Amino acid sequence: MIVSIIGTRGGIGSTTLLSNLFTHVKKNETSHGWLSLTSPFPPLFAGSSTNWKKVFSFKRYIPQWNNEKCTYCNECVSICVNNAISPLPNGYNIYSELCNSCKTCISACKSDAIKFELTDVGFIEISNDTNFNLHRLNLNEKEIISTWHIKEIFTFLRAYKDQNSTFFIDIPSGLHEYWEEILKLSSSVIIYSDDPFTSDLIYKSHSPRQAKLILAITQNSKAEFEKAGYSFAIPIPKNKIIAFDSIQGKTVTDIDFNAAILNLKKIILEKIPS
Ligand code: SF4
Ligand code: SF4
Repeated sequence: MIVSIIGTRGGIGSTTLLSNLFTHVKKNETSHGWLSLTSPFPPLFAGSSTNWKKVFSFKRYIPQWNNEKCTYCNECVSICVNNAISPLPNGYNIYSELCNSCKTCISACKSDAIKFELTDVGFIEISNDTNFNLHRLNLNEKEIISTWHIKEIFTFLRAYKDQNSTFFIDIPSGLHEYWEEILKLSSSVIIYSDDPFTSDLIYKSHSPRQAKLILAITQNSKAEFEKAGYSFAIPIPKNKIIAFDSIQGKTVTDIDFNAAILNLKKIILEKIPS
């Protein structure tokens, strides 16, 4: 099972919510795992992850330029619609983060001066802390996350995790354009929001989707959500104790917060009716 969280805006506390849920679900189960697509890592796990080891590489075919064969005709530069090739004083630079491996430049080069090479553009790493089974995404500098990365991540996790274990993915709030893909690929998605309008967009516009959708909202926005017809939304308390525990990297001790987390845990672990 893969459980993702989408916070509809930054600073709402989705990482705090998911990391506390993760510790509740994990308890004595070592096989459950965490993958952070956000930066920085959740304070709850900070300090416990000093060494990281690659467990997966994102590989893409990127053209490599050959200066011995090149006639400096600039054809590849003009034909690349992604502006991924740029002339330098003594050659050409190919920007892997802009290249979508379309091969057009290779077909256009009459001198056979560009060849595809399978290139590492980032990786997923595991922490050496055996208590948490923590993973993080580490893309090459300037590599921007895309639908392709999201699909690669889910394919990797499905093959990598124990069949009966659950992986929690912390999704950055800025990745709006990939919500649909995440909804398609996750087993459950927690939408965490304080804004009924954005939640409406997710519920009504993102399809097709396969994930079990769980709407969690900030306690303060409960009345607004009820007015908008979302009386089933799970309110999550936010107060000074929760903020303090989170900043200190502790599991949250607030009783109401923990009751909400246990409710989420129950819903996630319930079987989806067929
Ligand atoms: S198209 Fe080929 S020969 Fe022309 S500049 Fe590009 S790499 Fe060089
Ligand atoms: S493979 Fe396509 S996107 Fe990449 S550099 Fe060549 S033309 Fe541009």
